[in-house]
Amino acid sequence: MSRAELKPLLIEGMQPGGQLTITNEVENFPGYPEGSSGPVIMDDIRQQALRVGTEMRTGMVTSVDFSQRPFRCIVDNQDEIMADAVIVATGANARWLGLPSEQKFRGFGVSTCATCDGNFFRNKTTVVIGGGDTALEDALYLSKLCTKVYIVHRRDQFRGTKALQNQVLNTPNIEVVWNTVPVDIVGEQQGFIKKVTGLQVKNVQTGEEQTLEVNGVFEAIGVTPVSDLFKGQLDMNEQGYILTQPGTCHTNVEGVFAAGDVQDPNYRQAIVAAGSGAIAGIEASRFLMEN
Ligand code: NAP
Repeated sequence: MSRAELKPLLIEGMQPGGQLTITNEVENFPGYPEGSSGPVIMDDIRQQALRVGTEMRTGMVTSVDFSQRPFRCIVDNQDEIMADAVIVATGANARWLGLPSEQKFRGFGVSTCATCDGNFFRNKTTVVIGGGDTALEDALYLSKLCTKVYIVHRRDQFRGTKALQNQVLNTPNIEVVWNTVPVDIVGEQQGFIKKVTGLQVKNVQTGEEQTLEVNGVFEAIGVTPVSDLFKGQLDMNEQGYILTQPGTCHTNVEGVFAAGDVQDPNYRQAIVAAGSGAIAGIEASRFLMEN
């Protein structure tokens, strides 16, 4: 849109670059023959957008009014921005299990980001919960730092890609605990100091429970779209994914487009999100030319 001289303003939010900034290795984004890390890719994309003249602003959009054009967006509860077209690309956030002691130990050994927090567990034992690409990548990342890494998965088959599965299954210090769900996090507290000592788990086939002795618990059970801000204004499905007209980024509000993970329950890959952003950009440009 910058290249079409449409003066786009990008409100970056609290985690510019989104989930990719907490993704260690990305092998499937084109243009990086050796693979790269999420933060590097996102910085490259950011620099490219800046070079063509995109204005970027740090801040959170705290409310929107899409009932009439120009659309009204409030940033950080105070600044009003009026826009002739809006592209919503708020992405998705990691999901939490909701275990009884999860809140208590969050930040003290319970995390959803192995690349952010893995370093605290050098030469220790950790567990990753989940069976998708994130869980497999997290386990591989942690296996380089930790003495031992468990993967607790609720089924007897991974959901993640075959290449990652093979790597995981061939890594000697990763042990997969199949058909098993977490029951609770076990730990100790002395004053303000808390630490995780184990993960209580249950085999879903036998009902047998055991406690894995671990120092860190990494949850990798999927994501939730960041769309609460748009409830009541944009149509969404029961999981909160914004509905777009098939094959397009058009929402139910003319002039408001949705791109990337916030409208994609199926593919959720960086390249798909990037392509979807390109579609939204083209559609918004056409909309502005015609309206
Ligand atoms: P995901 O594919 O939705 O996998 C979530 C995993 O967590 C599944 O194995 C699921 O089990 C398990 N799970 C969900 N809820 C659970 C619960 N309450 N208790 C126990 N286990 C639970 O999520 P993801 O791994 O974060 O991946 C999200 C998307 O990003 C995917 O499209 C993935 O391909 C993509 N991604 C790509 C890369 C990459 O290309 N480098 C890296 C990371 C992620 P079931 O299998 O039984 O449903």
